[in-house]
Amino acid sequence: MQAGKGKRGAVRDQAAPDSRSADVAVHSGTPWEYAPAPESRDIATIRPEYGLFIGGEFGPAADGQLLETVNPATEETLSQVAAAGAADVDRAVAAARDAYERVWGPMPGAERAKYLYRIARILQERAREFAVLESLDNGKPIRESRDVDIPLAAAHFFYYAGWADKLEHAGFGRAPRPLGVAGQVIPWNFPLLMAAWKLAPALAAGNTCVLKPAETTPLTALLLAQVCQQADLPPGVVNVLTGAGETGAALVAHAGVNKVAFTGSTEVGKEIARAVAGTGKKLTLELGGKAANVVFDDAPIDQAVEGIVNGIFFNQGHVCCAGSRLLVQESVADAVIGRLKDRLGSLRLGDPLDKNTDIGAINSRQQLDKIRELSAAGEAEGAERWSPPCTLPAHGFWFAPTVFTGVSQSHRIATEEIFGPVLSVLTFRTPQEAVTKANNTPYGLSAGVWTDKGSRILWMAQHLRAGVVWANTYNKFDPASPFGGYGESGFGREGGRHGLAAYLDA
Ligand code: NDP
Repeated sequence: MQAGKGKRGAVRDQAAPDSRSADVAVHSGTPWEYAPAPESRDIATIRPEYGLFIGGEFGPAADGQLLETVNPATEETLSQVAAAGAADVDRAVAAARDAYERVWGPMPGAERAKYLYRIARILQERAREFAVLESLDNGKPIRESRDVDIPLAAAHFFYYAGWADKLEHAGFGRAPRPLGVAGQVIPWNFPLLMAAWKLAPALAAGNTCVLKPAETTPLTALLLAQVCQQADLPPGVVNVLTGAGETGAALVAHAGVNKVAFTGSTEVGKEIARAVAGTGKKLTLELGGKAANVVFDDAPIDQAVEGIVNGIFFNQGHVCCAGSRLLVQESVADAVIGRLKDRLGSLRLGDPLDKNTDIGAINSRQQLDKIRELSAAGEAEGAERWSPPCTLPAHGFWFAPTVFTGVSQSHRIATEEIFGPVLSVLTFRTPQEAVTKANNTPYGLSAGVWTDKGSRILWMAQHLRAGVVWANTYNKFDPASPFGGYGESGFGREGGRHGLAAYLDA
């Protein structure tokens, strides 16, 4: 594994105590030394302090509370943002209600579409600024924020702009109506993209929104609020309330909210379901996952290895649909694991703003502690832990890519969502056994299948209990494609025509 910035001598080795595995270095030749290629951070202007975005304007929280947001790669404080309390939630919901009744609800769909197109175009124009800010606040590699998060966020606005004037043809009856005010709570793993997933369909359908970004990653949502101003979006149509979990709880419980949309942990999702039960609010929950990525013996192994790496090490594994359980057919298990280890040896961990970086920082100390705790449990329960030799930067929150073999289905690392760069490997002999093991989870968000046979792909897709099944690929997203889960992964779909249903009274 390559340390970022080529500063191998200047960083301390943290991987060995974490991984006990520095002896298993598997390299296919001499690794290339890349020159550092840092993206300039000058393009992103970070204000020392941000207010709440209510009624089209930024202003302080009623009680003046502030939260710090830090760069997880360095622990440097980036800014302070207002922490919204109950009075601010009241104000934001009232602004959204007013905008819904006076402006946005009555506005023809074709007019709403123009605003969404405008936001999409501004996101494209300011893409580099957004990508740098996202990588600074979240810790994800610039390659991912630049090539995945930001373009997909813009694509969602473009896609739903196209639906805004066609709602009566979307299959939800002749005159589907918006619901009113949507309260939307999002997590820290894809901050801008999750904001786009929530806002774009809601606005296209004629609702107004109060968005609560995650405590650790508020900055791109606040920049998006500035984009709303730049696009002349009528005041109150989008409101952004930064704050902690209590802000989210106050928002979803607010009597003036008609629709609640949440992405985050299953635990908080259950709390929200209880808070909303019996209120008549429409609810969608996109929660955790423990996806199986199933590799059959006839799969093209090199492609499968790329898919495994993309499945669990993309975004440091902070992905609800991450392929965190590798199920590999016994006859090819050694070959697949050997090549996987070889490939992991070539990944580069380090400065998220370096364009060569594959693995960035863990988003928070709290999340790092959780990954460490579950990885220690994996070892204590008898699984074999491996990481490539790896030097971790001296400051910030880092975790070396980790593979556990010898995992049994009862291990915590096989059942609980780790939400980090940790892969649990299990084996199977027959397709039926693969399905049984893959479905042995309370979650049901996603799965992957790697095989040469089309008939087997179809058979697996029919039998896997997962909202999304990728075949010979992984972690592919498109605004036109619905996404969502079963069981403890939540309910409702986001994306595509299905994503409109959550925001329409149809
Ligand atoms: P949470 O589910 O706590 O956070 C998601 C969002 O909900 C954040 O904006 C959070 O605010 C907010 N929130 C927290 N408590 C409440 C509440 N009672 N009512 C309403 N909103 C609330 O996730 P965490 O960030 O705490 O991560 C914990 C674990 O959840 C992770 O380790 C991971 O396993 C899983 N997770 C799963 C995600 C997924 O997409 N499947 C996404 C994120 C996390 P705040 O940020 O201030 O806490």
